Amino acid sequence: MKIALRACMLAGVGAVAGASLMAQQAAVPPTHHWALVLHGGAGVIERATMDPKTEAAYRASIKQAADAAAKVLDSGGSSVDAVEAAIRIFEDDPLFNAGRGAVFTADGKNELDAAIMDGATLKAGAVAGVTRTRHPISLARAVMEKSPHVMLIGAGADAFAASVGLEQVDPSFFFTERRWQSLVRQLKKEGRPVPPRPAGAPPEPVSELAPMEPEGAHKYGTVGVVALDRQGNIAAGTSTGGTQAKRWGRVGDSPIIGAGTYASNRSCAVSATGTGEYFIRLTVAREVCALVEYKGMPLQAAADQVIHKELQALNGDGGVIAITPDGQMAWSFNTPGMYRARMREGGKLEIGVYNDEP
Ligand code: ASP
Repeated sequence: MKIALRACMLAGVGAVAGASLMAQQAAVPPTHHWALVLHGGAGVIERATMDPKTEAAYRASIKQAADAAAKVLDSGGSSVDAVEAAIRIFEDDPLFNAGRGAVFTADGKNELDAAIMDGATLKAGAVAGVTRTRHPISLARAVMEKSPHVMLIGAGADAFAASVGLEQVDPSFFFTERRWQSLVRQLKKEGRPVPPRPAGAPPEPVSELAPMEPEGAHKYGTVGVVALDRQGNIAAGTSTGGTQAKRWGRVGDSPIIGAGTYASNRSCAVSATGTGEYFIRLTVAREVCALVEYKGMPLQAAADQVIHKELQALNGDGGVIAITPDGQMAWSFNTPGMYRARMREGGKLEIGVYNDEP
């Protein structure tokens, strides 16, 4: 029995059966080694035009978020806890298009979307168009755990956040000069009206900031995390400001369960980034999981099929990160780059930016 238990503890594939066996044993060691994959958005991110300082800053930020999730998982925390912890760090980091640092809508606002899903229970929470909640990912989690609903939008979602004690901020908290100037440049280029500088924004700098990367290079910047915990449960989360200069209350794929975010212990957990309209139409996250669940495809092959065949066929652009309960990790993208990282318990954090890295 001891040998059988040890075998199932160390197993990758087949660990789910082991988990139910061990669920009957009291105080047995954890069944799985934890694992983690993160993304910070996909786009035209190219070595030739990337300035080394910017690249180093992105890598450092990704490491910080990964470390936060690793710490949770290392102390036996759940995959949902790990996903939330890492995304909260991304949301406070102005480099990413999530929380502080989100892109602006055409009328000069930051409207934030986020979702989280627990693969063990299929519970999910999502929010769209929030403007006052500092951590949209924590609000998505609160929707999942403290409301009878799956998705809340706009002012109602912010009101719910306040009612459960989540930090509320003035909308100008999300303002960053870099994103503002990027919006202004885009609107001018397209001959669209430029809205007034938002109330509460810091005074306009005397000279224009140099864009951190070529215009349109990092068009996305959404963040996402998928994790496997030592109990063998997986979770996914995604947070974004959506697409720059969006109008009319546009909502992308990130907060749509099955499109930009999905998790089920029966298959995999996925977080996507890219032009959300394509990801919604293909229900990309669920599609990857369906290929794993019903066709028995290895995770990487499933992710590649959806991104390089199905998304490509619609001329969609972007990528996914994914993880399975048996510890397979994958990423796939059809853009020149995607900020991404992965780590397995006891292993090293691997960070990638360009498409020529492993
Ligand atoms: N998928 C997001 C959206 O369409 C954007 C992104 O990934 O950056 O809202």
